Amino acid sequence: MLTGLMQPRPLTIAHLVERLEQLFAHKTVATAGTERVTYAEVADHARRLATVLDDLDVPVGARVATFASNNRRHLELYLAVPATKRVLHTLNIRLSAEHLEYIVDHAEDDVVFVERALLPRIWPSAERLSRVRHWIVLPDDSDAAVPADPRVLDYDELVAGAAPYRGCLEDAFAAEEENLAAGLCYTSGTTGPPKGVLYSHRSTMLHCLGTLAAGLVGIAESDVVMPIVPMFHANAWGLPYGAMLAGAALVLPGPSAEPEHLLSLMARERVTLAAAVPTVWTSLLPRLDDHDLSGLRMLLGGGAAVPASLSEAYRARVGLPLTHSWGMTEVSPVGAIGGTRSRHAGAAEEEQVAVRAAQGQPMPLVRLRLSDVEDGHEPPRDGRSIGELQVAGPWVASGYFRVEATDAFTEDGWLRTGDLATIDGEGYVRLADRMKDLIKSGGEWISSVELEAAIASHPDVAEVAVVARPDPRWGERPIAYVVLREGSATSADDLARHVSPLVARWWLPDEFVFMPVLPKTGTGKLSKSALRARTA
Ligand code: ADP
Repeated sequence: MLTGLMQPRPLTIAHLVERLEQLFAHKTVATAGTERVTYAEVADHARRLATVLDDLDVPVGARVATFASNNRRHLELYLAVPATKRVLHTLNIRLSAEHLEYIVDHAEDDVVFVERALLPRIWPSAERLSRVRHWIVLPDDSDAAVPADPRVLDYDELVAGAAPYRGCLEDAFAAEEENLAAGLCYTSGTTGPPKGVLYSHRSTMLHCLGTLAAGLVGIAESDVVMPIVPMFHANAWGLPYGAMLAGAALVLPGPSAEPEHLLSLMARERVTLAAAVPTVWTSLLPRLDDHDLSGLRMLLGGGAAVPASLSEAYRARVGLPLTHSWGMTEVSPVGAIGGTRSRHAGAAEEEQVAVRAAQGQPMPLVRLRLSDVEDGHEPPRDGRSIGELQVAGPWVASGYFRVEATDAFTEDGWLRTGDLATIDGEGYVRLADRMKDLIKSGGEWISSVELEAAIASHPDVAEVAVVARPDPRWGERPIAYVVLREGSATSADDLARHVSPLVARWWLPDEFVFMPVLPKTGTGKLSKSALRARTA
């Protein structure tokens, strides 16, 4: 064996601070409203924050939580906390008090940074979270009451009153310290309590480089990146770190997910790249024509399957499809990115639509494989054979924070995703369904995702979710919950007629239930568990 003679420099998030200062000081971060700061200011605040964390005696390795929407102070925390060897724990602001308390307690958060408008959602839990030593309020334009309590401090005052940390943050890391924990994110977990995924500096920076790889997401200096996906949803899919490494401008939309707000921000800032879950893209659809979105070069949709009909509707209206991004909290989160390759350039329209509908190709350094659900053998990569998707790579979790036993990993250390998929001869992965969402009718499987795509292709359908209803004869039967576009008079019979030629006869839902809205999870995805509960 011969060891290479290259510098064993660690991969660390601290690198971003100095890079922003030296290369991209003048580039900007815009938050909803009129606030605009430069990366020079963001880096300066991050350096002051480093001193604040020292002054508050926050130990190295301690978990520092955030309870905030996408804004520039949150971005400063993204830098300062890991760059000083503390661990950034982004809390989901839509969790129930019970889950929130469980997670803060389990993570043993030392400090919580909370956006002022969100105080009423978390402060009632403060009494039960006695381990949290400081609650630091990020000012916003809300007038929510700030508790008069010695534990409560003001972010802007602390930052303004602290001297910026002067040293080189990156040099404070020894080679092996690239494996130190940098971030913590809890995944909802379908069974049992939420589980913490503990990112390292190395995994975060490699994932970050992955988001810069051309031909996939390919964040570049010329981009204006708008993560609509919350900064607590798996680090906003790595986009803030990616944008900072590339020197791209950032647009952070704040707490509102109002379609008009998001679209006017996109138009005003000439956003080139935006990312959100499909339910958000659906909500923007009716107002797309009112805004100039000609600056866009890529729209990412992920966290749940993007129906081809939704993606094609965007292509027709803004000239861009929704590009699939497949991932999981455990995968940092991006594992695969959709889109065509050079050889598809002259391909028939139908083939191109089909390729774009796939979850896509694995990111560099990410390995994907299938495992037969019954006997564990590896099905052929023929684009037809289905198996459970398993994933390995340097930004894939190897375990959960403070969880001993788990069956989430294979004996050879691959992550079991719980997703059912095919992989074709060119490495494209297509998700068939999540294992728990499949419907077993008369001993045969029905893919809820495919059935939803068929129903969603009706022009009057705004949203749809298909879940299983227990059935004495067939075991389970599909039930479709549908939200119609405003003013539509489409009936269940119309929908059945539309779907009939698209799927097998026995796949036709037993019932179409019309709803004004569909329930959503904490990360804004359709909540099938809530629908299953009302279906049983
Ligand atoms: P949660 O289980 O709370 O939704 P994650 O946000 O980590 O947690 O979700 C990961 C799951 O989301 C994946 O296992 C997959 O089922 C689904 N998913 C993510 N991206 C896509 C996508 N592009 N297409 C289809 N499903 C997706």
